[in-house]
Amino acid sequence: MELVPNFSLLPYNTFGLDQKAKAFYSVNDENELLALLSKIKDNIYVLGGGSNILLTKDVDGIVLHNNIQGITILEQMNGSTLVEVSGGVNWHEFVLFTLSKNLGGLENLSLIPGTVGAAPIQNIGAYGVEQQDNFVYLEYVDLETLKKYRCYKADCGFGYRESVFKHALRQKTFITKVAYNLTETDHVLHTEYGAIDQVLKEKNIDNPTIKDVSNAVISIRQSKLPNPNEIGNAGSFFKNPVISQNQFEDLQTLYPMMPFYPLNESNVKIPAGWLIETAGLKGYRQGNVGVHNRQALVLVHFGNAKGKDVLDLANHVIDSVFKKFQIELHPEVNIW
Ligand code: FAD
Ligand code: NAP
Repeated sequence: MELVPNFSLLPYNTFGLDQKAKAFYSVNDENELLALLSKIKDNIYVLGGGSNILLTKDVDGIVLHNNIQGITILEQMNGSTLVEVSGGVNWHEFVLFTLSKNLGGLENLSLIPGTVGAAPIQNIGAYGVEQQDNFVYLEYVDLETLKKYRCYKADCGFGYRESVFKHALRQKTFITKVAYNLTETDHVLHTEYGAIDQVLKEKNIDNPTIKDVSNAVISIRQSKLPNPNEIGNAGSFFKNPVISQNQFEDLQTLYPMMPFYPLNESNVKIPAGWLIETAGLKGYRQGNVGVHNRQALVLVHFGNAKGKDVLDLANHVIDSVFKKFQIELHPEVNIW
């Protein structure tokens, strides 16, 4: 069991930034993790696929990469199936596994990069579905006490791109496995969000299966989102802001074309991509980083930049949007 010192994280973050970790270790099972933790006294940073982090400097600590593999079908009862997945499994490969078993629930979350262990951290979501909709429990090792815990949904504090693991338990856990309850029959499909219905219609699919919905999501994502293998990015850099009904009404008078999604009687979600685009920043380039020219919510790295350059650009976007709309954008990406 050897820690690799002075390790470049270049292949381990989708922004493609070349920052180093003091030491690195790829964890293959839970016993290995516990043995390692009992010896380490440094700061610990847990890493999955590196698709939701921005490395702004070298990491002053030990990076533990989650590579724990395995999917187990635990229980099949009353038309649903409980599946337990190890944290290092690639999320999209897990979704493909569920589709191959005709298990419904995760089809809208197809092609999201990263690992299963990271999915609960920001309660990943897309096209009207969040991982919490099928989530049952997760297991984690407390990085300080080395104790193992099982955390059920009610204790995870899931919200819009939120969980307790981004707050009270931030950087305190290593999530080893997650369990989801999926439907075997009578799948309830969510096709009304984004262009899913339109894509299904174009393909003349009247009675879609979960595989059809997954394929539609995959094709929409491939046509809209920059591929991190081609250009560095971490998906949406900012969360969609939620503003008060009063502020919304004032803004709507000024910008009648502003898209909006009411969350309840007093709060409205505004797409951050529209705010950034309307602030004139879609396609904006600052040195070797920029705002993507098709999806303004995504910041991109053209090569040879530092994480600090991305952070400076993010701050410029935040300032510009605030000046124009008095709305504060908050990063969704974890800044290291
Ligand atoms: P990492 O980036 O490795 O880590 C993210 C955070 O979680 C870090 O703080 C890390 O310390 C912590 N962490 C990771 N694994 C563990 C663990 N096992 N235990 C404890 N802490 C851990 N997100 C969405 O919600 N919806 C989308 O549609 C979406 N689309 C994307 C598209 C693109 C092109 C990209 C690049 C990203 C997208 N994302 C999306 C963001 C990202 O894919 C998700 O947040 C994903 O869950 C991150 O997984 P990861 O393994 O890469 O996490
Ligand atoms: P889109 O369909 O162009 O929509 C723009 C924004 O409007 C989205 O962010 C979405 O909010 C919101 N929206 C659209 N239809 C909605 C509805 N019926 N009800 C409520 N809100 C609605 O978005 P996109 O950029 O192509 O992304 C499609 C989906 O993939 C979105 O759900 C998005 O969150 C997800 N995605 C996430 C990331 C990431 O890194 N987090 C990256 C790419 C895509 P929500 O974001 O709240 O859904």
